[in-house]
Amino acid sequence: MNNSELERYSRQLLVPGFELEGQEVLSSASVLIVGCGGLGALAAQYLAAAGIGRLALVDPDRIELSNLPRQIAYIEDDVGRFKAEALAERLGRMNSTVTVTHHPISFDETSGSSLLTAIDAVVDGTDSQATRLVIDRLTAQKALPWFMGAAVQMAGQNIAFTGSRDEGCYHCLAPQQTSEAAGGCATLGILGPVVATVALRQVLDVLGALTGVAKVPWGRLRQYDFRTDTTASLPLPKRAGCRVCDPDVNTR
Ligand SMILES: [Zn+2]
Repeated sequence: MNNSELERYSRQLLVPGFELEGQEVLSSASVLIVGCGGLGALAAQYLAAAGIGRLALVDPDRIELSNLPRQIAYIEDDVGRFKAEALAERLGRMNSTVTVTHHPISFDETSGSSLLTAIDAVVDGTDSQATRLVIDRLTAQKALPWFMGAAVQMAGQNIAFTGSRDEGCYHCLAPQQTSEAAGGCATLGILGPVVATVALRQVLDVLGALTGVAKVPWGRLRQYDFRTDTTASLPLPKRAGCRVCDPDVNTR
C-alpha cells in the first residue's frame, strides 16, 4: 500500500478488526452490483469509496427525474443517461484506484453467468423478485454469497445469503413474498433515507463478509419499519425439498 492509500484509508485502517489486512482483502475483491438505483448506486459509492478492488455495475435503465430524490449518485444533467454508465463515471472520479465495469443490460439467466465470472459477492439493487430468483439460482451454482435488499414506502428488509445456502435461500422465502404483487416503489412510493438505510446495511454485510470486521447475520430476514421505528430479525424458513438449497433435491 502506497502513502497516498495509507492517507486515504487512514480512518478505516484504525478500526480494530479491519486494519491493513482488511484493506488488502478489500482491494483484491470484486463485487457485482445488480441494479444501479436507490440501493445499488449508494452501495456502489460506499464500496468504491472504501477501496474495493473491482466493481461491476449492471442496469438496463436510464436515469429519470423521479430517481433524483433518492439516487443521489446522479445529477440533473444525468437524466436520460444509462444508470450503469453514469455511475461508473461518477465512481471513477470518486476513487480512481477502483476498476469499474458497466453493463447497460438486464441480469438474467443468459447474461448472468458471464457477469458472475471472477466475482466474490453480489449486491442486490433490483426491485424485482424475478431478478432476485435468478441471482439466487446463479450464485448458488457458483457458491457465491449475495446480499438482498428491498425497500418500499417506509419499510425495508435485508438478507445475507451464504454461498453454501446452509441457512436457506431466497427460493425458500419467495413463496411468502408478495411485494411484487402489491407493487413496487413506482406505484407505492419510497422515501430516500429508507432505501439508503437498507443499502448501507448491505454494504456493512459485504465489508463484514470480506474482511471479518463485523459479524454477518447470515440467513436472517431483517425487517425495518421506519414509520414505527420497529425492527425484527427472523431465521429464514428453510424449506425441505427446495430446488436450490436442499442437497437431496438439488437441481441447480
Ligand atoms: Zn431454499
